Amino acid sequence: MNLILLGPPGSGKGTQAKILVKNLGLVQLSTGDMLREAVKSGSDIGRKVAKIMDAGELVTDEIINSLIREKLKSKNSGFIFDGYPRTLNQADSLEEQLDQAGASVDMVIELTVDVDQLIDRIVGRLSCVNCGAMFHKNNQPPKVEGICDVCGSDLIQRKDDNEESFRTRLLEYYQKTAPLTGYYHRAGLLQYVSSVGSIEEISERIEATIQAS
Ligand code: AMP
Repeated sequence: MNLILLGPPGSGKGTQAKILVKNLGLVQLSTGDMLREAVKSGSDIGRKVAKIMDAGELVTDEIINSLIREKLKSKNSGFIFDGYPRTLNQADSLEEQLDQAGASVDMVIELTVDVDQLIDRIVGRLSCVNCGAMFHKNNQPPKVEGICDVCGSDLIQRKDDNEESFRTRLLEYYQKTAPLTGYYHRAGLLQYVSSVGSIEEISERIEATIQAS
């Protein structure tokens, strides 16, 4: 199956995708992680996108679609798309690529959350430099300050996890990504899951939604 997780920044897509990887054996495809990797390695793409990402703006569809095309070359099913697609153009490109391989998007889950909670989730968020695991300074602190519980590497605050970039990311979400709910609703694929509560409660809701379909 191919599953898309939609939702505004801070709605928990990355955290929930990692749990689904563990529980359902799906592969997480996070365009945000791929871009951060490119920035870290100093590749051509990395140099092009670093400032755009720090500002909270969207990277061009051309770059994003080509990253995904590479990933779908060897495998076309069993994915959780996390942070992709984010525009109608990306959704069309994904559909076209899967279609050519005889595969499809099987379900789209939109994580819904009160906008007021997002800022706190984002500004207090800590991410592992190595495995991408996420923590929160107050709501989900690591056992040892600054160290990832999962792999023992350093935890950092992402450059775009600040209030100014968050406002831009939210605006980008409402202007460019929110229309995808209409797109996938029309296709009969959209399910809403509340992203309020503990990480475990949310993941149980997601898995129940998947099983009920
Ligand atoms: P994320 O880790 O999903 O929050 O993404 C971090 C940043 O990477 C975003 O704010 C964008 O600048 C960029 N990005 C990630 N995925 C996409 C995408 N599908 N389309 C455009 N830009 C993206």
